[in-house]
Amino acid sequence: MQPHKILFISDLHLDPNQPSITHTFFYFLERIAPTADALYILGDFFESYIGDDEYSDFLDSIINRLHRATQSGLPIFFMHGNRDFLVGKKFAKRTGMTLISDPTNITLYNQKIVLMHGDSLCTDDKNHQRFRKIAHNKFYQKIFLSLPLSFRQTCANKLREKSMQQNKIKPAEIMDVNQTAVNDVLKKYNAEKIIHGHTHRPMISENRIVLGAWHERGNYLRVDENGFNILQITDNR
Ligand code: MN
Repeated sequence: MQPHKILFISDLHLDPNQPSITHTFFYFLERIAPTADALYILGDFFESYIGDDEYSDFLDSIINRLHRATQSGLPIFFMHGNRDFLVGKKFAKRTGMTLISDPTNITLYNQKIVLMHGDSLCTDDKNHQRFRKIAHNKFYQKIFLSLPLSFRQTCANKLREKSMQQNKIKPAEIMDVNQTAVNDVLKKYNAEKIIHGHTHRPMISENRIVLGAWHERGNYLRVDENGFNILQITDNR
C-alpha cells in the first residue's frame, strides 16, 4: 500500500532553556502529527544529550509525549544528529520510537529517497568530519557513557561552547553541503532525492530537500499526494 502522508522534522534543538520550542513540538505532536502515517526525526532533536541514564523533568515530559504518540499508533523513526548521537536503545524503548541509521533508504510515492542528518555531506568542514568519526564510534561512545553524568555534562557544555566559537569564524560555504558529496550519495544509492537537515537552510530542489531548524518557528516537511511541502507551525507560542 502506498503511504498516504509522511512527516519529517529535524534540528529542533530541544533545550530546557528554550521551553517555547518544546511547547511547539508538543503542539505539533498533538495537533498535526496524529493524521500522518509516520513521523521521521532526522537528527538534532536535542540540543545536547549525554546518555539514556540522565534524568530530568524536561526529558521526562518529552519521553511521555513521544510515548503517548507512538502508543496511539503513530510510528516514529529517529535518526541521530551531531548533537544527540548518544540517544540510545533505552530512550527508544521508553518512547516507542525506532532508531534508524544515517543514511536510511526509503521509497515514497515510487521515488527512492535517502534520509540523512546532513552533517556527513558537509565534507569541506574537516574539523567536524574528524569529530564525527569519533562521536559515532561505538567504542568511544561506550567509554564516554561509563563516565559520571556530571563529567559528561561538563564535556558537553565545553564542546558546545567550542563549536559555537568555531562556527562564528568558519566561512558560510564550509558549513553547507558539498555538491560532490551530494552527487556521490545519490549515485551510490541510485536515489532521486536526499532529505536532510543540519545546515538550517530549508529548501526544496529537484534532488535535495533541506529541513529547517526550529529556533524561530517550528516547521516540517509533509509528503503526501500533493507532493513535497515545507510547512510552518503556527501555534500560540
Ligand atoms: Mn546538526
